[in-house]
Amino acid sequence: MSKSQKKADLWYSKYIRVRSAVEHDGEYYNKCISCGKPMLLKQSQCGHFIGIGKLIHRYNHLNTWPQCWVCNCLRSGESIHDYEQNLNELISPQVVEYLKDSRNNFCKLSKTDYEEIASKYKVLFLNLCADKGIIPW
Ligand SMILES: [Zn+2]
Repeated sequence: MSKSQKKADLWYSKYIRVRSAVEHDGEYYNKCISCGKPMLLKQSQCGHFIGIGKLIHRYNHLNTWPQCWVCNCLRSGESIHDYEQNLNELISPQVVEYLKDSRNNFCKLSKTDYEEIASKYKVLFLNLCADKGIIPW
């Protein structure tokens, strides 16, 4: 992975995790899209429904939701079924079908594209942190 792609992934992932974070007793939490368990904001991961290998949806807001480490890394095979089911309810079965049908659509990102994604999501992340009262990390 190139340096610019790593940076794009980093800021995008932070943005997605802060996007759905909710506060409870001074701590921020996310709910895992697959198993539904609550997890601390910084322990949550950015889980992709259509895998990151499919560039077309790698930075798609509808395709990326907070996921726990166990579902994302250990049981990614099984957890994807729960992911799909919960995504059907969260967005809509039509959108889920669209994500699946278009997964192989051509997409090529240049170094400049990655740099733009990184700076865009860095700003969005920092703004969202400020709005929610979260200390950026
Ligand atoms: Zn989980």
